[in-house]
Amino acid sequence: MIDLHCHTRESDGTDAPHALVELAAASGISTLSITDHDTFAGYDATVAHAAGLGVELICGVELSCRHEEKTVHLLGYFPGPAGAPAAFRDWVAGILASRTERNRKLIEKLNGMGIDITLDEVQAIGGSVTGRPHFANVLVAKGHATDRNDAFRRLIGEEGAAFVERIGPTLAEAASRIQESGGVSSLAHPVRIGYFREPEKELALMAELRESGLSAVEVYHSDHTAALSERYLEFAQLLGLLQTGGSDYHGGNKPGLRLGAVPVPNSVLEGLRSVGF
Ligand code: AMP
Ligand code: ZN
Ligand code: FE
Ligand code: FE
Repeated sequence: MIDLHCHTRESDGTDAPHALVELAAASGISTLSITDHDTFAGYDATVAHAAGLGVELICGVELSCRHEEKTVHLLGYFPGPAGAPAAFRDWVAGILASRTERNRKLIEKLNGMGIDITLDEVQAIGGSVTGRPHFANVLVAKGHATDRNDAFRRLIGEEGAAFVERIGPTLAEAASRIQESGGVSSLAHPVRIGYFREPEKELALMAELRESGLSAVEVYHSDHTAALSERYLEFAQLLGLLQTGGSDYHGGNKPGLRLGAVPVPNSVLEGLRSVGF
């Protein structure tokens, strides 16, 4: 089995990196990529452990990018045991710094609304990356929201009263950075871009991004119906792009979604092998 999209508690998952790799081995996954948001900490911590368990671990990351007022996720995969090169890691560290700045502003806004919450409290429950899912958990734990959905809807989501926008790279910039760094970028869960009722727009975006260095499309994902996966496979093949896929497992932060839950065909790995993985 193959799973090229999952998160550890270094970003917004709940499993420790070691535990995730052990779960992969126990689940019969032979090739795994940890794709935490904005950090390689989970990958770096488990390279040796994965090798010992006979799990092939591919260095990955998921970046939140801007595209026409939308936030679109882009996956980056890097071949070889060292994974992403130093220059790319430095660039990602800059993204992480802008996230911390956003988190400070979010705390200020929440405090301004009379909500008692500190950055330390939120950072304490996360790993290398503190994101809004951590804010949601603290807001619920402290009784400021009835559940995580309520926290996003009323407070920290795009329509929420305390929402603060985070300035990230554009999709084109991120795709080109990944390519320059010897990696493969993949347009994550294309259904979430919001053009799924206008397939011609999806295809046009993929074609446009290919010019910036996009290498692949995430065809197989837990949010995709069989019909959507078929569509994205067709688009990828039409454009000569590689295909990737995975569950987007987040542990307890996405209850009911198992690691390896999404079947990913071997052709995905064969495609990656053909470009040096
Ligand atoms: P951040 O990168 O810190 O801005 O947080 C983004 C993450 O928050 C996304 O990857 C989702 O996991 C989660 N998220 C965003 N909006 C919502 C929402 N409306 N409901 C639940 N989770 C959300
Ligand atoms: Zn995530
Ligand atoms: Fe994503
Ligand atoms: Fe993800």
